[in-house]
Amino acid sequence: MIAKVIVDVSAYPVDRPFDYGVPKQLVHLVEAGSRVKVPFGRRNVLGFVVGFSETTDVPAGKLKDIAELLDLTPVLTAEMLEMAKWMTQKTLCYEIDALQVMLPNALRAKYEKKVVLNVAVTALDESLQRVFGKRQISTYKLFEKEGLLAPLKRAIRDGQVEVVTAVKQQGKAKTVRKIKVHDDKFFLQELAESMGARAKKQLHVVQWMSEHAGEEFVPAELAALLDVSDAVLKGVVERGAATFTDEETYRDPFSKEVQATNALTLTKEQQQALTSINAAYDAKRAETFLLQGVTGSGKTEVYLQAIQHVMNEGKQSIVLVPEISLTPQMTERFRARFGDKVAVMHSALSMGEKYDEWRKVQRGEVSVVVGARSAVFAPFTNIGLIILDEEHESTYKQEDTPRYHARDAAIWRSQFYNCPVILGSATPALESSARAQKGRYTLLKLTERAKHQALPSVEIVDMRDELHKGNRSMFSTILAQGIRERLERGEQMVLFLNRRGFSSFVLCRDCGTVVQCKNCDISLTYHKTSHSLRCHYCGYEEPMPKVCPSCQSEHIRFFGTGTQKIEEELHKVFPEARVLRMDVDTTRQKGAHERILDAFGRGEADILLGTQMIAKGLDFPNITLVGVMSADTSLNLPDFRAAEKTFQLLTQVSGRAGRHELPGQVVIQTYTPEHYAIELAQSQDYEPFYKREMKMRHRFSYPPYFFVVLIQISHENAMKASDYAHQAMRFIQANLSPQVGLIGPTPASISRIQNRYRYQCLIKYKVEPNLIEALKQLIRMYRTDWIKDGVQLFVDLDPSSI
Ligand code: ADP
Ligand code: ZN
Ligand code: ZN
Repeated sequence: MIAKVIVDVSAYPVDRPFDYGVPKQLVHLVEAGSRVKVPFGRRNVLGFVVGFSETTDVPAGKLKDIAELLDLTPVLTAEMLEMAKWMTQKTLCYEIDALQVMLPNALRAKYEKKVVLNVAVTALDESLQRVFGKRQISTYKLFEKEGLLAPLKRAIRDGQVEVVTAVKQQGKAKTVRKIKVHDDKFFLQELAESMGARAKKQLHVVQWMSEHAGEEFVPAELAALLDVSDAVLKGVVERGAATFTDEETYRDPFSKEVQATNALTLTKEQQQALTSINAAYDAKRAETFLLQGVTGSGKTEVYLQAIQHVMNEGKQSIVLVPEISLTPQMTERFRARFGDKVAVMHSALSMGEKYDEWRKVQRGEVSVVVGARSAVFAPFTNIGLIILDEEHESTYKQEDTPRYHARDAAIWRSQFYNCPVILGSATPALESSARAQKGRYTLLKLTERAKHQALPSVEIVDMRDELHKGNRSMFSTILAQGIRERLERGEQMVLFLNRRGFSSFVLCRDCGTVVQCKNCDISLTYHKTSHSLRCHYCGYEEPMPKVCPSCQSEHIRFFGTGTQKIEEELHKVFPEARVLRMDVDTTRQKGAHERILDAFGRGEADILLGTQMIAKGLDFPNITLVGVMSADTSLNLPDFRAAEKTFQLLTQVSGRAGRHELPGQVVIQTYTPEHYAIELAQSQDYEPFYKREMKMRHRFSYPPYFFVVLIQISHENAMKASDYAHQAMRFIQANLSPQVGLIGPTPASISRIQNRYRYQCLIKYKVEPNLIEALKQLIRMYRTDWIKDGVQLFVDLDPSSI
């Protein structure tokens, strides 16, 4: 029998399985989805068995054998192997990358594996008993040597023996030592009779144990109960009256208790949405629902009850949230309803915690997973529902190989399990809305807030007027007034600054003009070194203007204020205000988000000041004012999705106000109040925005009307980066139709990172049958030749931002 193995050899130009022989002792043990070590070149590398065949093209005598089997239970299911194939097509990644991304880091890193005895030795196969004299054995090596892997596997399946994986970096798996009394009462009685009177204390213990056969105790507690020392217990164990067992316990990623909740009585709209979703589930239909509900409309309650419905039938659910470490409140709501049936998977967990959660899922000990992007690969095997909350968020797209979108992966799995998917948002991605329009997704709408609170009133403040009125502060008169009132009334506020580090745009403080590219409708980016403005889409460049091109004002400069500066300003203007700041600087530590939000929830501050991480998920009753310091920051990102992102963000933050009894007010400060993304955010009305933005996309040939592919190339040497980028572009051009839109190569928006110069090319197209093949060839060329020259290349078939 020949095993087909995908090997973990980075930068190897060939993407195909290699053939390996299966040594006799591993026959029937190696399965599809098993991790193995195989000889490759002069070393052993990690690999995944993806299938088997009877024959091989490898000449006899050249065929090498699998060196080691790493898991007796395969870590990948048949579904995952299939999904990996799909992902290689969808993202042009190599199969090994697709396989790896589905597993927790712990299974990729160095780890330590132990085989641990679960029950009394007597229950085991005789041959295993011999080996298990040691109780706990590292790796399978010993069993393999003795030809005992097959019985071991059986024992694992029967639950007599357990495999414990301890991640080395994290120290050992957390274990609890127990003492287990021999489960044969008569054996214990006989043992007691045979004991001499010298071992009085031990005798006492054994006699006591004969009345507690098969029971388990914590050693220290038992010693205290029987008033004996640890040494006495050890002695009793040596006589065979009991055994010590080390049980692995799960690390607990939840830092606090939650109050249980019951299902709420749904509103009419919620009920209609739930009925449609449940009907799809009942009919085993892989239907994708776009649940479009205004902020506070109770989308989460719909998720909870839809999950309950599938859970009643023993089915599992996956809930994806944009970045769970930022939204502890969301996790809590699921735990409050489903208790310990919920596992979490997100980046803020330690590697050990992640692995534990993954195992709970793999073993089916939980039936709901709440997690960030990669939780879409949760190793459930009986899925009934998949949910993406805030489906428009760009964090669902992985910006690293494999460049998959969690939405696509979710829909793929729903088709595998014939179950529904819910995409929830107040402001769906344009792509999703377009699909709903076409009928590919089913649109479900929640137009009212669940408790019939009014949507907050939104005021747009023109910061140009403020300047003209002589107010040079960061706070407009209205916002300052609003803050003062809240401080007097003891209500809470959120101040929001959407600061995105790198690129800065140039804005006229008198007329609000932002200097834009003549070709691309994209804000030009200021480059300090050349003191010029550049379009990083098409490469257009002009010198930094001295006066505003529209109104000739000299008040023109590049833009950008940090949260820290606003905090200082707040302290100056409102010395009595208690401010909590939440941005990258204040949240580096694990659990910091939670601590800050908890403190705010307990009313320990009046003002929560932060970046986009406070836009989502916050649900505090006492927040009655939301201030957006500058809506322009995100509007002027050099990205064709800038307007969409701004509208989404403004709607999101506005939704934080007045969610409960107290009515909410929102103040949005801007230099461009006439921009449709800002104007329409005032009414928080999605449809007009959608229509308007679709027109723009059409006019400039962007998605969803056209597809966009991004090719990025980087090198330490600027010339080489540019050369390779041009080579790539010429290659693509030679292989595609004349209709294709090719832009670039141009320096990327962040033209240099970590001393690497970055260039990018864009391909805009509607139909290009040869595109994928051409890109594959480009990647092969890169892997075979270019990579040796220090160049890096990636291709993104669905860039979330450019
Ligand atoms: P969304 O996720 O759409 O922003 P949430 O699910 O957070 O909205 O709901 C907003 C608030 O309304 C929450 O406090 C929630 O408990 C409450 N809520 C949701 N559905 C109902 C309902 N049917 N009856 C009463 N309150 C509800
Ligand atoms: Zn001007
Ligand atoms: Zn341009």
